[in-house]
Amino acid sequence: MSIRASCGHEVQEIEDTYNIATKEWEINEDGWQKAVAYKSVCKDCYQEYKKNDAILSSEAEEFDWLHNKEED
Ligand SMILES: [Zn+2]
Repeated sequence: MSIRASCGHEVQEIEDTYNIATKEWEINEDGWQKAVAYKSVCKDCYQEYKKNDAILSSEAEEFDWLHNKEED
């Protein structure tokens, strides 16, 4: 039996998934807004998110992502 991770890939064991919070954008009536998504992804996708610096590894980082204004 296999498990389907949030990324859509199948893994053999629940231990093969990585629980992460990622930097996301979503659109609403005010336009594009920053958001945080919580996912459990396979190892390949975890490494891809990591390579792209798209993982928020703490609540402080999540807060900064959502609330920091772009300076430029
Ligand atoms: Zn995956």
